Amino acid sequence: MKPDRIPRVGLVSLGCAKNLLDSEVMAGVLTKRGFEMTSDPANADALVVNTCGFIGPAKEEGINTILDLARLKREGRCRRLVVAGCLAQRYAGELAREIPEIDAVIGLDEVERIAEVLTASGRRTPPLRADQSVTWLYDHTTPRIRSTASHTAYIKVAEGCDYPCSFCVIPQIRGHFRSRDPDSVLAEAASLAAAGTRELVLVAQDTTAYGRDLGIRHGLARLLRELAQVEGVAWVRFLYAYPTTLDDEVLSAMAEVPEVCRYVDIPLQHASRRVLVDMRRPGTRQSNERLLARIRDAVPGVAIRSTFIVGFPGETEREFRELFDFVEAARFDAMGAFVYSNEESATSHVDEEVISETEKEDRRARLMELQRGIALARHREMVGSVVPVLVDGAAEESELLTAGRTEGQAPDVDARVLIVDGDAPAGRFVDVEITEAHPEDLLGHALEGSVAETVRVTAATA
Ligand code: SF4
Repeated sequence: MKPDRIPRVGLVSLGCAKNLLDSEVMAGVLTKRGFEMTSDPANADALVVNTCGFIGPAKEEGINTILDLARLKREGRCRRLVVAGCLAQRYAGELAREIPEIDAVIGLDEVERIAEVLTASGRRTPPLRADQSVTWLYDHTTPRIRSTASHTAYIKVAEGCDYPCSFCVIPQIRGHFRSRDPDSVLAEAASLAAAGTRELVLVAQDTTAYGRDLGIRHGLARLLRELAQVEGVAWVRFLYAYPTTLDDEVLSAMAEVPEVCRYVDIPLQHASRRVLVDMRRPGTRQSNERLLARIRDAVPGVAIRSTFIVGFPGETEREFRELFDFVEAARFDAMGAFVYSNEESATSHVDEEVISETEKEDRRARLMELQRGIALARHREMVGSVVPVLVDGAAEESELLTAGRTEGQAPDVDARVLIVDGDAPAGRFVDVEITEAHPEDLLGHALEGSVAETVRVTAATA
């Protein structure tokens, strides 16, 4: 692509927060190299799509997005279409072969090479290599342009995964587990906080293993305590805990340090021992129950979120019922359920699935309906209480509502607090009296005079 003026790049990011972070790095690298970013793909000279390749629906979304952008390329001003991300890493050759509008596919190790790939001419696919050898991970010196609100930022503290979960292809795509240097994470946090970030959300494929490969004992607990000391940081939380590595030190940090959110996101995947064994995951229904009790004992007021897979090969109605009963008793603050996706390179792949898609969807719907009732009951318990809320800004559904979150609600995945009246500026903390409960949201009003830069310790918590 020959730039006769500043080339405009449209970047579409799909998938999870970890992928979003890679997109933010690409935007940072491109901006540093003199490109202009545009949110309007029709007006872009070059298009980049950062894909997710985790499960069937994500792959489908990725391919449909590429096809939409390919059509734009044929009709619009775009001269170069680049595909990045997990789908690109997994199917580079196939994508380039099947979609001729794609000019370049870049691998996960090449995120920082996006500018050269955009300015190169001709078609290219990443050099062939064993997927397990992916090693790239950004650090605090890597350019990054944030796409989230300035008061909240994701920080990727590690990448890759060494667990053998039979349904998951992530280790094949993203490589072995590796942690960032704690000093690099702290330096990034300090610069984010200096720019106005109040909430840090730590992500990785396997966040509770943080530091293990660097020989740091209790790495996540230490990191949480250190991040809490960074000036300007009011909340730090992490996502994606693994059941056997969520240690007591992490729970103590949550219980003792006000800046460490009392929030545990712990995908448990199932409750039936037989299914968990086939998933190559640890635990049983009883051990999961003990784990939840340990978390709740150690951290009073903690919010727990989990995710499960239904329709795993061979899951009988009785095994599903065991999961259902477990979820009913566990009373998670938030829960997500996914239908099993039969990935061809996953160990759990079966040639023919016995459980139909309809049955899988039905099990998912039953589990989600159960959780709706639990969430509503839990939210009703909060009516009348006053909770500190970080204000995110105008709610998507109405400009009359302002959306915010309690320490028990992570961005994008959890319920929100919708503030119906009172002063609630974005990026600030306010005390909100909860007046109404719904399964997805809580409603309330901001207490007069409660706007603060950080959490007010005087506020009562639910
Ligand atoms: S721990 Fe998570 S990322 Fe790692 S293999 Fe299991 S499901 Fe995949």
